[in-house]
Amino acid sequence: MPTTAVNNRTNLLGKTEAQLRDYFVSLGEKPFRAKQVLKWIHQAGISDFAAMTDLSVALREKLANVAEISAPDIVSQRDSKDGTRKWVLRVSGGSCVETVYIPEADRGTLCVSSQVGCSLDCSFCATGKQGFMRDLGAAEIIGQLWLAKHSFNTYDASRELADGEHGKITNVVMMGMGEPLLNFDNVVSAMNLMMDDNAHGLSKRRVTLSTSGVVPMLDKLSEASDCALAVSLHAPNDELRNELVPINKKYPIAMLMDSAQRYMDAVGGNKRVITIEYTLIDQVNDSLQLAQQLAQLLKNVPCKINLIPFNPFPLSDYRRPSNNRIHAFQRVLREAGHIAHIRTTRGEDIDAACGQLAGEVLDRTRRSERYRQAQGNSEGAGPAGAATAEPHIFARG
Ligand code: SAH
Ligand code: SF4
Repeated sequence: MPTTAVNNRTNLLGKTEAQLRDYFVSLGEKPFRAKQVLKWIHQAGISDFAAMTDLSVALREKLANVAEISAPDIVSQRDSKDGTRKWVLRVSGGSCVETVYIPEADRGTLCVSSQVGCSLDCSFCATGKQGFMRDLGAAEIIGQLWLAKHSFNTYDASRELADGEHGKITNVVMMGMGEPLLNFDNVVSAMNLMMDDNAHGLSKRRVTLSTSGVVPMLDKLSEASDCALAVSLHAPNDELRNELVPINKKYPIAMLMDSAQRYMDAVGGNKRVITIEYTLIDQVNDSLQLAQQLAQLLKNVPCKINLIPFNPFPLSDYRRPSNNRIHAFQRVLREAGHIAHIRTTRGEDIDAACGQLAGEVLDRTRRSERYRQAQGNSEGAGPAGAATAEPHIFARG
């Protein structure tokens, strides 16, 4: 398996078919080479040009000199007792990002990161607390799918997965570290490769971009992609959402929902629905009154609602609501006619659950340091990271 190399070679892993065509033309080669090479990289998992037997020997040698197929290095891989697998990947520059595979009865979902950290700092998210370093390149994003397939050995076509064996990746969600719409071009290229029939060939309904609401970029998305859309809402009114998802102060709920609706209209009309994500935090956004407000807000929006019980992490003193409260919230939505599922927590024993991905971010913003200091100062008052009587929202600096 290749490692991240420091050299002048062009990395072909993140290039779309169109970009590869341009690349081959720039080398004085025929554009149709793009399709051949794309299939070798993404359908056969090949990283060695010498193995690309339908290219001439001369072209294979030329490519070996000027190009490479290079994914991030795997620092560690852990398996949860529930079948979830988490990889920690080192990306160039030294930081680490995380990727998670979640097997379910009828699907296997890969949760992919788009940035090293995140600049948006939602109050309930471990990634946000890590601060922000940089965007991932397209190769580092599609590389997560490529490495996961290698890790499960599913590139070997002669190998049939045994009954009950995990490893088939049927869905990708851009719900790992980072805000995908703030790394627009690289995320769009990587998703293009996920959906291209000559690359990974996933259906557009099975590749989901999740956003906390970067409206100007969401407004551009339909020109570049027709992937599925998830909106991280977490609150039905601006006052509360401003506290939980700070970007709401710039792009409030009404603006976000209009933009999401326009995206859905542009890509698929009335047959496709928005996924609304709502992380349920005890005593913060889980009251029945808020459930009613949410039901009302989404009354005319074709959507399904995913309720995600808050997953704790050391820098947060929010709590997960009781099962009774979670089910009561769901019941209000269902009685109002909504489709609302409770997302079961997966991979918690390996810190792989939603919102627990922290990687190892060389933080440019010094935000993580401030959070650690703030927590250190309050430690005398009670056990570190333990729930206090009044869950509070971290002050943002
Ligand atoms: N930045 C994008 C995608 C990454 S976050 C976004 O915000 O949509 C993906 C999802 O993880 C978000 O919907 C958020 O609800 C969820 N999440 C973040 N922190 C969480 C936590 N501590 N517990 C449960 N879900 C969390
Ligand atoms: Fe960033 Fe999403 Fe986490 Fe908010 S929830 S801090 S947007 S990764």
